[in-house]
Amino acid sequence: MNKIERTPAPQWLEKKWEEWGKRWAQRYAKTQLGSSFTWYTNQKKSRPELVEKLAAMTKNHCSFCDAFPMGRRIPYTIEHFRPKTKFPLLAYKWNNLFLCCGLCQQKGDAFDEQLLKPDEDEYHFDHYFVINWDSGELMPNEGQSADNQMRAQITIQLYRLNANGKPEDRLEELNRWLDSAKPNIDEWAYRFFIERGV
Ligand SMILES: [Zn+2]
Repeated sequence: MNKIERTPAPQWLEKKWEEWGKRWAQRYAKTQLGSSFTWYTNQKKSRPELVEKLAAMTKNHCSFCDAFPMGRRIPYTIEHFRPKTKFPLLAYKWNNLFLCCGLCQQKGDAFDEQLLKPDEDEYHFDHYFVINWDSGELMPNEGQSADNQMRAQITIQLYRLNANGKPEDRLEELNRWLDSAKPNIDEWAYRFFIERGV
């Protein structure tokens, strides 16, 4: 998980997020169906622009595993860090939204206050995680506080950072990078892994 510098919210979202959040909270209270959520794609400013803005912050990488969400195996989604069913009023709040791959999105409605948020001020990979270079897995950094280790563990579990073949994918990406002409790191997946593996 890379640190993310959050850019300012799109103006149209800044204007509307509270109103849309209230509307969604009412609808959800009635239906209890997360699937009835909409990004208002019929309006002029819509999901595509939102995705574009979120993708610019991560250079098109998933905010959590740092894979490229664009593709057949791993479609992109917009992740509500605080789930839209548990925190409906925050469903359109800019700093609650992240570009996310379909695999990390399996987190679903799970949430824990200890979950690491990649754009929070004090977040830094090494303060929470270490890498097991044999398996490619992320592990809590035992050199850090018990609280930091717990937060790392919860984040690994909820975003399934060691599931879905991700550890193997990370090792393969590093090997490809080592064999390549090593162009711009932003063109590669799992940048936090490659940067520490060389
Ligand atoms: Zn992901």
